[in-house]
Amino acid sequence: MTPRTPTTLAVLGGGQLGRMLGLAARPLGLDVRFLDPKADACAAAIGPLVVGALDDVEAIDRVAAGADVVTFEWGGVPAASARHAARHAPVRPGDRALEVSQDRVTEKLAFRSVGIPTADFADAATLDELRRGLATVGVPAVVKTRRGGYDGKGQVVVRDLDDAEHAWSIVGGVPSIVEAWVPFDRELSIVVARALDGEVRAWPLAENQHEGGILRRTTAPAPDASSALQTHAEALATALLHELDYVGVMCIELFDVGGELLANELAPRVHNSGHWTIDAAVTSQFENHVRAVCGLPLGATDATGVAVMINCLGSVPSPPSVLRTDGVHLHDYAKDPAPKRKVGHVTVVRSSYEQARAVADEVERVVRAAEQPPGGEA
Ligand code: AMP
Repeated sequence: MTPRTPTTLAVLGGGQLGRMLGLAARPLGLDVRFLDPKADACAAAIGPLVVGALDDVEAIDRVAAGADVVTFEWGGVPAASARHAARHAPVRPGDRALEVSQDRVTEKLAFRSVGIPTADFADAATLDELRRGLATVGVPAVVKTRRGGYDGKGQVVVRDLDDAEHAWSIVGGVPSIVEAWVPFDRELSIVVARALDGEVRAWPLAENQHEGGILRRTTAPAPDASSALQTHAEALATALLHELDYVGVMCIELFDVGGELLANELAPRVHNSGHWTIDAAVTSQFENHVRAVCGLPLGATDATGVAVMINCLGSVPSPPSVLRTDGVHLHDYAKDPAPKRKVGHVTVVRSSYEQARAVADEVERVVRAAEQPPGGEA
């Protein structure tokens, strides 16, 4: 008997990723509901919101009861919450993906277990272990908390072996990882989807530029990425998806070092570096995530043009200021403005890199100008 197609999707987390998942789910006939600690969570515009902590079992019961499938839009959702939600409906991707990705050591071991290269690393649970780790891995190195870090938070670059104590205090004296500094040429990411039947589809590699640890700009397909590099990245990601028996969209952030790929981290969810797929791929990461978790066939992942995605940090420019040019798409998440907060993005789609970059440079000027407080310094 063919299983019934899901009609109700519960999403743990109600931020912009949830909102965009919801926007992709509605045309497929799905009702979507969300759980978020904030009463003003921006996904609430798309479907009912349960306000509650992501580790509050009663709140999880309320959002998951009666849902056909549960998914999450935040990688920090406790694995125990995913297990609790699974009493009501299948949770895809499952608790294992959360557990693996929430601990940088477990994450690196998972990469290595399927042959995905990473920077050399050492586990540092104490200051002494940090000293030994730095001696083994060498300097420069990056010390990061094993858990809880994001957007470059909870990490410090160490250039001298004598700086171990200082680094230990910066990471707050909690279990950490020491990673060899990777002299990368650029940062790439691969966004991939795996269906319930094991089919895998990958979008073209994207090139990412960060600012102060926050993604500012993504260009996709990544310029000068050969088909061999694309095939290689897809093979690495596919091995991990199968190993984790993963269902849904995953992103792996990669360092490109002279054409060699090293994995930095994985996100067990739709990812900011895949936002361009809404406007410039046959099927977006959001739609394919919904399709995957609902047991539907995946859509094609080809790019339909050259895309440059620019994040709006803190505030969103006025629509007319960016929409004057053809091929420019504004996504306002309807969040309250706050410094460095991801509140929207703009995607430029053109047929050549030259054109896309030219328009994107202009859009970026407008986006940055809108981020300045009135009368503030540039
Ligand atoms: P992460 O929180 O691991 O994503 O790190 C934030 C950013 O720091 C990355 O996007 C890189 O730009 C940089 N970074 C992290 N780890 C390393 C490393 N081992 N070597 C060089 N740069 C790194």
